[in-house]
Amino acid sequence: MPLLVMKFGGTSVADLGRIKNAALKVKREVERGYDVIVIVSAMSGKTNELVGWVEQTSPLFDAREYDAVVSSGENVTAGLMALTLQEMDIPARSWQGWQVPILTTSAHSAARFIDIPRENIDAKFAEGFKVAVVAGFQGVSAEGRITTLGRGGSDTTAVAFAAAFAAERCDIYTDVDGVYTTDPRITSKARKLEKIAFEEMLELASLGAKVLQTRSVELAMRYKVRLRVLSSFEDTDENSGTLVCDEDEIMESKAVSGVAYSRDEAKMTLVKVQDRPGIAAAIFGPLAEAGVNVDMIVQNISELADGGAYTDMTFSCPTNQVMRAQKAMEDARASGAVNYADLVVDTDVAKISVVGIGMRSHAGVAATMFKALAAENINIKVITTSEIKISVLVDRKYMELAVQALHDAFQLEKA
Ligand code: ASP
Ligand code: MG
Repeated sequence: MPLLVMKFGGTSVADLGRIKNAALKVKREVERGYDVIVIVSAMSGKTNELVGWVEQTSPLFDAREYDAVVSSGENVTAGLMALTLQEMDIPARSWQGWQVPILTTSAHSAARFIDIPRENIDAKFAEGFKVAVVAGFQGVSAEGRITTLGRGGSDTTAVAFAAAFAAERCDIYTDVDGVYTTDPRITSKARKLEKIAFEEMLELASLGAKVLQTRSVELAMRYKVRLRVLSSFEDTDENSGTLVCDEDEIMESKAVSGVAYSRDEAKMTLVKVQDRPGIAAAIFGPLAEAGVNVDMIVQNISELADGGAYTDMTFSCPTNQVMRAQKAMEDARASGAVNYADLVVDTDVAKISVVGIGMRSHAGVAATMFKALAAENINIKVITTSEIKISVLVDRKYMELAVQALHDAFQLEKA
């Protein structure tokens, strides 16, 4: 039997009516001849409520009990989905993570898959069951404790099952109808993409396009799982939504596929750092130890002054890590590991990125990007590039304008 994985996110199972609507989509695939593994999220808002209960009960909670509580939302939806399918005369049963069993590491609330043995579910399909409804986001550790994968983890469960069961495709049903060239709330010209390459999706996902958990895309890329993002609120068919796939499947030859942005960026500059071998290690070592996720890094040309060579070192990190970064740098200065004249923090910046595998073969992408920003009088504060991405930091007040200007400059509204 061909097999499909269908994942329904929180808004798609938010109440009994929506669970029924999702079940009808499953039914249609069963009628087409598929065995189906359904992965469900908790009803929307449920996981937040459970997290709140844990925090109110025990501020320094035991992570194992956090997972025991927070994983339970998915158990409810899995059971309800199985019941709904049974009411439609479809042989289905629910599976909690430990029943499969979904074996994970013991890193509570950030667990990773170790193995998903197929035997138990395969045996049920062989008995005539058509649907296995699996609770997303959870697993079981070698110690026999319930684990969770981190927020948004049901996407990753879905991809892992698609890989383990060699599914024809992994359909992610959600409240948007696909992946767009940029956030449609910022420009109405945003266009739904028919296909997007794993690598591009990875850049867009980690850049703040919140459709898929980043780890699910990494996993899909590694195991070449064809992933489709589509709406559970619309009539859909095999061409709906956006297919996230290998770049070989993509014919389009645009330089840029999408524009992403991130509002929560801060820029920090260490002014007049002594320029000597080991200085970057002396700065970024302590930042890493402090858990600061450094993104962009710029080191200026060094300058000769006061009988030595000096440079400015600029980096960006998430806004909520600024205090940690500051403390790490002040400690490094106090211990004599790093000398600098000043630490300048700018928390009013946003990062805008253009992403596209086509950049590898198109020249002039950076020039087009910088011209478009210049035409709007937007000053660029930091620039970084990779093979398929160019990112800039700009003042946050220009974020929307920058996204719109770049969307226009690369004509992303046109297919
Ligand atoms: N329910 C979990 C969350 O809200 C997992 C998921 O839905 O993907 O993060
Ligand atoms: Mg989600």
